[in-house]
Amino acid sequence: MRILLMGPPGAGKGTQAAKIAEHFGIPHISTGDIFRAAINSGSELGRKLKQFLDAGKLVPDEVTIAVVRERLEQPDCENGFLLDGFPRTIPQAEALDQILREMGTELDIVLNISVAPEIIVQRLSGRRICRNCGATYHVKFQPPKHPGVCDRCGGKLYQRSDDNEETVKERLDVYTKQTAPLLDYYRKRGLLTQVDGNQSIDQVWSEIERTLRSIKK
Ligand code: ADP
Ligand code: AMP
Repeated sequence: MRILLMGPPGAGKGTQAAKIAEHFGIPHISTGDIFRAAINSGSELGRKLKQFLDAGKLVPDEVTIAVVRERLEQPDCENGFLLDGFPRTIPQAEALDQILREMGTELDIVLNISVAPEIIVQRLSGRRICRNCGATYHVKFQPPKHPGVCDRCGGKLYQRSDDNEETVKERLDVYTKQTAPLLDYYRKRGLLTQVDGNQSIDQVWSEIERTLRSIKK
């Protein structure tokens, strides 16, 4: 299955993507995760990327598209993949179409997780990430068994530097202006399915699982 996961920052894309990837055995490709890994590696590219992430601005299309193209060309994507956080602009969506055409394939479905604005802010302000394995937690809604420690690997949890009030405002603004128009792009092509992201993590998952099961080829 070739799936695209959309929704505003904090909608729960990463949380649901981990479940989808495990359940359907496809790689989870998150451009945000790829960029954070590059930043953590301390490379020259990472230093440039950090400026965009810390400001809540989008990384330029050219860089982002090149990263995704390289990732989709890996052999583990042959039988399907899940894109999370890409595309975020119309040029990125057009580039994705082109890449998939070259690969002789196409998207099966675009899932849009929609969430009320006041919920987004609560989710992002309490989000914690494992520095070691990248697992996502929430201090209230998905707390680890021991505060500050990852259940899966024992790694230390941290708060993303872009999950502060000011940067969140900028990211939501960027989402509305640059990314939300993509919903129409996919709706017109009959690929868009809405998911109610205002529910609990388990309820959202059961809605997604049901939808994907019904289209599984
Ligand atoms: P995104 O990848 O869309 O930015 P995340 O998956 O990282 O969002 O989720 C943002 C925060 O909200 C995380 O702390 C996560 O634990 C929490 N979260 C995700 N889905 C839900 C939900 N359905 N109900 C409550 N909290 C959630
Ligand atoms: P995320 O982890 O999806 O919340 O993304 C974190 C940050 O990474 C964003 O605020 C952007 O700075 C950058 N980013 C992630 N995906 C993209 C993309 N498709 N295009 C441009 N920038 C991106």
